[in-house]
Amino acid sequence: MTERIVTMLSAEQIKCRVNELGAQIAAEYKDRNLVLVVVLKGSFVFAADLCRAIDSHLRIDFLGVRSYGEGTESSGVVQIIQDLSRPIAGEDVIIVEDIVDTGLTIAHLMDLFRTRNPKSVKVCSLLYKPARARVAVNVDFVGFTIEDKFVVGYGLDFAEKYRNLPYIGVVERT
Ligand code: 5GP
Repeated sequence: MTERIVTMLSAEQIKCRVNELGAQIAAEYKDRNLVLVVVLKGSFVFAADLCRAIDSHLRIDFLGVRSYGEGTESSGVVQIIQDLSRPIAGEDVIIVEDIVDTGLTIAHLMDLFRTRNPKSVKVCSLLYKPARARVAVNVDFVGFTIEDKFVVGYGLDFAEKYRNLPYIGVVERT
């Protein structure tokens, strides 16, 4: 069986949208204590581009979570495998996600972060798949709303492959 990737969002489309999101965040968070919390591993490419599109002071921290195994179905179990390096009390947090699918990961992270007394917590996700939502979550900044397809590239993997693709696509097997 061979795999091929059918492009869903080109590198150029992603770049334009990420720049727009960055400008929107910079305008909203001007003169505030912004912390971007990057949810690893899938968000690392998006976050690297997004932070450079935000023309204002910010701090970056990383959170390692595991919500998927080697397959494509959510287990519903969110495990923190690497916590933040510093407290977020009194700070304006944006959680940077690659994709909100069932919403279970983000719902769990919102609950966790609220116990740490930040000034505010919002969510910025490059992709949003509303068809798969299992819990109601508010995604404050959305790059693209997409249909119910399993996507890879631009940080997103399938069994750890394809994270380095500069575009986002759907895996097709023939
Ligand atoms: P949720 O908890 O919202 O179901 O899923 C969140 C995580 O599941 C994402 O951060 C991502 O790691 C993974 N995920 C969900 N949908 C996809 C997809 O279409 N492609 C890939 N590669 N990962 C996905």
